[in-house]
Amino acid sequence: MNDPSLKIMNRSFGILNKRRSTLLEDERTLDLKERVKKIREYSVEHLSTLLEKARKTLENNGIEVIMAHDAEEAREAIYQLVKNEETVAKSKSNTAGEIQLTEYLKEHDVNVLETDLGDRIVQFHQSNPTHPIGPACHLDMEIIAKLVSEEFKKEIEAEPRAILDVVKSDIIEKISQCRVGITGANSVAAEDGSLLMVHNEGNISLLTLLDLHIVVVGVDKLVPTLEDAVSVVKLETIYATGKTVPAYMNVVSSPSKTADIEQIILNDMYGAKRVVVVFLDNGRTEAIQEKKECLWCIGCGACIVNCPVYTTLGPEFGYLRHLGGRGVVLSRYIHDNDVCFNSGLFKCTLCGQCTLECPMEIPVNLMLEELREESVKERIYPEKHGKIKNNLQKRRSPFNPDEK
Ligand code: SF4
Repeated sequence: MNDPSLKIMNRSFGILNKRRSTLLEDERTLDLKERVKKIREYSVEHLSTLLEKARKTLENNGIEVIMAHDAEEAREAIYQLVKNEETVAKSKSNTAGEIQLTEYLKEHDVNVLETDLGDRIVQFHQSNPTHPIGPACHLDMEIIAKLVSEEFKKEIEAEPRAILDVVKSDIIEKISQCRVGITGANSVAAEDGSLLMVHNEGNISLLTLLDLHIVVVGVDKLVPTLEDAVSVVKLETIYATGKTVPAYMNVVSSPSKTADIEQIILNDMYGAKRVVVVFLDNGRTEAIQEKKECLWCIGCGACIVNCPVYTTLGPEFGYLRHLGGRGVVLSRYIHDNDVCFNSGLFKCTLCGQCTLECPMEIPVNLMLEELREESVKERIYPEKHGKIKNNLQKRRSPFNPDEK
């Protein structure tokens, strides 16, 4: 990532740090944190039972369930559902980013309309999102105004309202021509068969009204009840934005229906006629065996805001939309040690700041240390480390005067 973008990103992180500083110490936040920690630990421990339960309750509620073992299966399942569409509308989703859904659909002639303002701007910029909740926080207003002006071929003032109005009316116009909405879910309540999504812009509410609503979500988002799901997203909101609640929480528990005429249930009222949820495993079951703490994550992004490596390198430290050290850990289970190495396994300073910042206290540094050991056993390590090792073996010193 270039220097100006890093500066803008770190400035945004500074504002976020300031906004949430007192809220994080609030007694209600501390209580909520303890509660959510227990929910996440329990959920990861009982993931297979919750998944089985969710499958049954969702299907009983009229939601179709697809299990995807890996990214390829998830992409293909979604493509089969949308292959006759010219454009599908999509909200911000780390899971969709993980399976590179937008790129895949584009390659197969299905356009993807990003409906989140930040994601839409990043789509214009053709860069990577830099924060799970604020994807465009590496771009300043002048850059955004220039991008939007180029996109719409007219001069847009570098003023937030002017930018927003232009992008918004274009997105609304385009959504009105879409039949399919694709979203993620922030939490899934297994016992109730409910999908919970949070957002501030109102775009997800619009997408749930399209004919087909596809929800792509990692299996790690399962919790037992809807009350648990609400607790998780409340804490996520506090840590991600510094606000106590998001503007919207959408709960989807079935396709649209009414029983207003003699209690006869009729589907297809205002909302989606069909809801399909795609549960993605993609290495998560394997991660539970070895690094279950990695799945406690609630997706708030707190771990990257003060990480010395992320704030220096940006999204090249991490794996796709799983940013920072925790993303590096996950990449080992989504792929292998090679991908983990390339995601930044040896870039981490092991300082542990992310664990201090994380509301779930995920011990990212310890996990990365263990993964380094494993990686070295597979002979995957930085070239310089190899040279140092050779020097030590040959000269009993890490240095070689012949090497520049
Ligand atoms: S331990 Fe690694 S990932 Fe965590 S804050 Fe430090 S440098 Fe970042």
